[in-house]
Amino acid sequence: MFDYLIVGAGFAGSVLAERLANDAGKKVLIIDKRNHIGGNAYDYYDDAGILIHKYGPHIFHTNSPEVFGYLSRFTQWRPYEHRVLTTVDGKLLPIPINLDTVNKLYNLNLTSEELEKFFDSIKEDVKNIRTSEDVVVSQVGRDLYEKFFRNYTRKQWGMDPSELDKMVTSRIPTRTNQDDRYFTDAHQAMPLHGYTRMFEKMITHPNIHVMLNTDYKAVKDIIPFKKMIFTGPVDEYFDYCYGKLPYRSLQFVHKTYDTREFQQVAVVNYPNEHEYTRITEYKHLTGQTHEKTSVTYEYPCWNSDPYYPVPKPENAELYQKYKSLADETPDVHFVGRLATYKYYNMDQVVAQALSTYSKITQHNLADIAV
Ligand code: FAD
Ligand code: UDP
Repeated sequence: MFDYLIVGAGFAGSVLAERLANDAGKKVLIIDKRNHIGGNAYDYYDDAGILIHKYGPHIFHTNSPEVFGYLSRFTQWRPYEHRVLTTVDGKLLPIPINLDTVNKLYNLNLTSEELEKFFDSIKEDVKNIRTSEDVVVSQVGRDLYEKFFRNYTRKQWGMDPSELDKMVTSRIPTRTNQDDRYFTDAHQAMPLHGYTRMFEKMITHPNIHVMLNTDYKAVKDIIPFKKMIFTGPVDEYFDYCYGKLPYRSLQFVHKTYDTREFQQVAVVNYPNEHEYTRITEYKHLTGQTHEKTSVTYEYPCWNSDPYYPVPKPENAELYQKYKSLADETPDVHFVGRLATYKYYNMDQVVAQALSTYSKITQHNLADIAV
């Protein structure tokens, strides 16, 4: 008899398995329908011997000392600050938009103060910032929006930014200085030996059993367990009883080239050309030296593995119906990006899993007190 059946061996499932086994002494079974642990953060050495991310670039960043401290128990880190270039009007420019982006795009020589005034002169007055279009045009105006955001977003999400919640493009700041980092978090680093090695350390414990290639539907009535942690899609758990929640997907095309370096930085975005959104070259992330290089092209699509919850009002409403059902299912905890339908980064999922663990333990203490 397992104390917990954990569905999904990604961040949500692995953090909870580690805490429940290591801290609370529970007997845990983690199952995953894939043939590997790590969820979407899984990395592996490809045929050329280069460490790549199977499900696209995963760059770790957090402002939470608790999350960083917790993960540091399972990995050393390689300091890494992410920088992204984007191709606009035949030029390779820094994104997020900063002073250099605007100067290089328009052949100007503005100072930061002049750029602030320039933005003031071109930004649109949006009374109620609601959509992903509103966010950008209210900061940098229509032309920069069209060149850097509109087409990328249409490609990535299969819909116009005016249909998406403001939180999507709010992920990308606008800067008037020359800071060209993608993130400004206090902690930015890559697991020194990769994510999969970190997950292995996290869940290697005598009380944790792992079953791969296993869908929970196939085993839920066979395996004896007391409680469940579910980290797959919440609508799937409830047999789509209110209809399907949309998740945007991607096809990843991995390639190895016979050259030491393919592009200047880890990620180059292609907002206005090609069917893919971006190309990632992993050696920039991992620091690996190798005479060849491996890259991944991302092609957005529907109806494949669920990767991104789609932030728009009607989906939030539908999710709330599933959440009510989830709240009425006390022996199952729903955790992670798919199970709580939240566009969460890795650190947010770790934080959510740690906070679920404290709720579970408090609950248990309360049970004991009664
Ligand atoms: P997942 O990693 O999706 O794990 C869920 C697991 O459950 C999966 O392994 C799945 O196979 C399993 N599962 C589902 N249903 C079943 C079932 N019925 N039976 C058995 N198993 C099941 N975050 C960052 O912080 N930085 C980044 O740079 C970054 N880049 C990203 C790039 C891409 C392309 C994507 C898609 C995401 C990115 N993220 C990034 C987000 C990050 O991947 C997630 O926050 C994190 O991996 C979510 O962890 P999770 O455990 O909630 O879900
Ligand atoms: N985005 C864009 N142009 C860019 C980069 C991002 O329009 O060059 C928008 C797009 O809608 C994207 C969102 O900003 O989905 C968030 O970007 P991020 O890089 O955080 O996406 P993720 O890494 O989660 O795919």
